[in-house]
Amino acid sequence: MLNRRKVVLVGAGMVGMSFAYSALNQALCDELVLIDIDKKRAQGEAMDLNHGVAFASGSMKVYAGDYGDCSDADVVVICAGVSQKPGESRLELLQRNTAVFRSIIGPIIHSGFGGIFLVATNPVDIMTRVTYELSGFNASRVFGTGTTLDTARLRYLLGEYFSVDPRNMHAYVIGEHGDSEFVPWSQAMLATKSVLDICEQSGGKFCVEEMQRLSNEVRDAAQKIIEAKKATYYGIGMSLVRIVRAVLSDENSVLTVSARLRGEYGQKEVYAGVPCIVNRNGVDRVLELMLTPEEQQKFDDSCAILRENYEGLEL
Ligand code: NAD
Repeated sequence: MLNRRKVVLVGAGMVGMSFAYSALNQALCDELVLIDIDKKRAQGEAMDLNHGVAFASGSMKVYAGDYGDCSDADVVVICAGVSQKPGESRLELLQRNTAVFRSIIGPIIHSGFGGIFLVATNPVDIMTRVTYELSGFNASRVFGTGTTLDTARLRYLLGEYFSVDPRNMHAYVIGEHGDSEFVPWSQAMLATKSVLDICEQSGGKFCVEEMQRLSNEVRDAAQKIIEAKKATYYGIGMSLVRIVRAVLSDENSVLTVSARLRGEYGQKEVYAGVPCIVNRNGVDRVLELMLTPEEQQKFDDSCAILRENYEGLEL
């Protein structure tokens, strides 16, 4: 068949399978391959999903495979990782996840894979940079989920606050996917009107403090979910489907993925969440917003944290 869209998922855990389940329900591709170090788990997950194919909106070939299956894939989504051991530092965890990625990226490259890498494993900005370094691919073809989900949560909350469809709220969470992420309010719009102007002209109905509270809620959301149910996976699974669709359908959509900066925002080499135009080429362009000096300082601080974490790693 012509133009068969093939996606390989590496890491069939909670996040990976939430992605796979949404992918099947949304008929994202024609072929979905599941790979996990636990082969039996990948096989069981493929069987389980296959039993639902009859009820899905499109047909999809789902099977457990191996790295050779990446040779003709369009996108490889990486959700594999190990979790933090008690008493383990963030850097030690990073080091172990880097070893996991070394065991994954090498065989994928060896298969002759010529598509796009999309990374969800945390800390996502660092693991995406590790993927870039290990793969030797052009940076446009290696990117991470970044602040895509945070941005979606923010737009939803702002939509509620202003009683406006979230699709008409244009605001971004940028920087590290983590504690130092922030919202550049000077660039947040309701349609084409600045939310700062709306606050100023609202006679006290809307205010920056309340919007800031909403963005703090976004930043702390994952932690709250983890406290309640130990892990987060549905939201990120659906974000992954959204991003892969932008690639497979050559959409030129603006998404705040984790991209390698090459001078944009005055930063180089670091991977961070920024609005990007995503299409068949991966990150086709990074959109550079006009930040205020205070916002630029926050962005620089966030990138400094990411750089410091990466530089502590042994690749
Ligand atoms: P999980 O433990 O359920 O799944 C991880 C899977 O990776 C397991 O099935 C495991 O067998 C597999 N794996 C481990 N080592 C492997 C290797 N060497 N090769 C192949 N597979 C291997 O964890 P999860 O809840 O699915 O989370 C996965 C990752 O996603 C974590 O790093 C988590 O922090 C991250 N995450 C990211 C976001 C985001 O916004 N980017 C959100 C939630 C979770």
